[in-house]
Amino acid sequence: MKNNTQKLLIQIKNLCDKRCVRLTPQRLIVLRLISQCNGGAISAYNLLRLLRKSEFPHAKPSTIYRALNFLLAQGFIHRIESTNSFMLCHYFYELSHNFAFFICNSCKQVTEQTTKEIEKILQSMAKIAGFIIFNNTIEAHGLCTKCFNVKLHTHFKS
Ligand SMILES: [Zn+2]
Ligand SMILES: [Zn+2]
Repeated sequence: MKNNTQKLLIQIKNLCDKRCVRLTPQRLIVLRLISQCNGGAISAYNLLRLLRKSEFPHAKPSTIYRALNFLLAQGFIHRIESTNSFMLCHYFYELSHNFAFFICNSCKQVTEQTTKEIEKILQSMAKIAGFIIFNNTIEAHGLCTKCFNVKLHTHFKS
């Protein structure tokens, strides 16, 4: 997991060079902090707290928002709307993919899946409704297998 993150950050850095956009130190560290939440998502507020604890003790909310906007625009991170938090995209090399998020209510783990099949259904529904979709987000809340098993276990014990 740790090594994967490192690899991902290097890939992103190379992609920035290719696109001729600058991954400034602030942007890089915000990206690193997001990647370090172990599959979860993190709020802008918590990012600011971590940023102040690390290399940028005087970081302002605008620093975070500027970095987040850059990372969102480049498709390196996603915003989880229902929890207003941010997570690393694991399919960033596929320009503008559609995705669904599975959010565990217990451990906050977020799993991302691409949604090609759902997309087809949505597009045909939009056609019937006479509607053009610009973007859509699918966010499902529940429990991951690990947390579900823990719940099941404690349920049977009591
Ligand atoms: Zn993604
Ligand atoms: Zn969980």
